[in-house]
Amino acid sequence: MSRRPPTAIDQYEALATVVRLVRRGRARTRPELGAAALLGRTVISQRVEEAISLGLLEDADVAPSSGGRAPRRLRFRSEEGLVLSAVLGAAALDVAVTDLDARVLDHRHLEWPVAHGPERTFDFLDEYFAELLKAHDPAQLWAVVIGVPGPVEFATGRPSQPPIMPGWDGYDIRGRMQRRHGVPVWVDNDANLLALGEARSTGLDDDQHMIYVKAGTGIGAGVVSRGRVHRGSKGAAGDIGHARVLEDNSVMCRCGRTGCLEALAGGWALARDAVTAVHEGRSRYLADIHRATGEITPADIGRGVVAGDAWCLTAVARAAERIGSLMAALVNFYNPDCVVFGGGAVAGGDTFLRVADHTVRSRALPLAAADLTVRAAVTGDTGGVVGGAHLAVDMLLSADALAAWAPGGRPSAVEPDRLVAGV
Ligand SMILES: [Zn+2]
Repeated sequence: MSRRPPTAIDQYEALATVVRLVRRGRARTRPELGAAALLGRTVISQRVEEAISLGLLEDADVAPSSGGRAPRRLRFRSEEGLVLSAVLGAAALDVAVTDLDARVLDHRHLEWPVAHGPERTFDFLDEYFAELLKAHDPAQLWAVVIGVPGPVEFATGRPSQPPIMPGWDGYDIRGRMQRRHGVPVWVDNDANLLALGEARSTGLDDDQHMIYVKAGTGIGAGVVSRGRVHRGSKGAAGDIGHARVLEDNSVMCRCGRTGCLEALAGGWALARDAVTAVHEGRSRYLADIHRATGEITPADIGRGVVAGDAWCLTAVARAAERIGSLMAALVNFYNPDCVVFGGGAVAGGDTFLRVADHTVRSRALPLAAADLTVRAAVTGDTGGVVGGAHLAVDMLLSADALAAWAPGGRPSAVEPDRLVAGV
């Protein structure tokens, strides 16, 4: 996006601030906006009027008076636009349509192997997007967000050598979806979207820091810094699954390297070890499952933990310790307010979280661990699509994006490419 020439009082910075403060519940009246944004009454009044004319804010009820005339409350008009959000996993995907508050209006969880490749996947996805939009005015669509289970170069929206997504390397997801839907498209790593969804759903403060660890079949993390996802230079920040934690070459990872965290503590690695355990006669619980289904899944191991199977308990505890150990180093390095664990690992009882929590606390520096919260994610299946919607709305209501689309009255008035880059 081309940068605007600087002005003494940047109209769009002020507009973006006003809308963000109301949208995030930080200010509800014009006087509160003035105090929170440190802007004068005239500027606030003009920018609120502009936001109202754009359909982003409206005057709602009257706030209680603190003496004098009671101020009108302002409301963010989340119904002004829609976001389509899809988060792909290895074997299934979530699709949702949300409003501008990232409220899920409709949602599907669908079995779909990402290994089918991008063309088939997006043909499949477009069908469900069309279905989700049926009950709405398609002209209200503001953006599409796609989350993928692998590294993404954020500026271009292309996956970068994703280990579990054959055929996706360098694929132009943004180009494909923008041509189809005619709206701006953002593409992000699934853990980043989960992290943003969790941060917003739990009201993480704008001055707080969080690391969200998705520990499921694979392992990834999203880093939230001052309320925003920290992606680093290219978008690779938080990709901890392929950090090398074992210094010998005995354990192969599905990325082609050896000794990765995922190859020791990911759900797929536990499932691999479980089959060995069955063959060595170390778990009757798993042997019964293996006999019945011909395989062991990470979910089977989770159920084994709940059932009290000794092998499953030990395997999950060891995985939690390995992940917790790396997280202790990251807690020292990054000093977050909270570490959140999501994904399949925390679904099977509290063993994983208890061991991970203990490992992080006992190995992190006292100052870094002092007020640290370690907890399970509260957002479930829809955390990623909710995070995706927040991402799109943050982007479209940024000062740069508003400068591009506000003069035309709505985001669809400008070329999607003008809205996606460099925000
Ligand atoms: Zn690896």
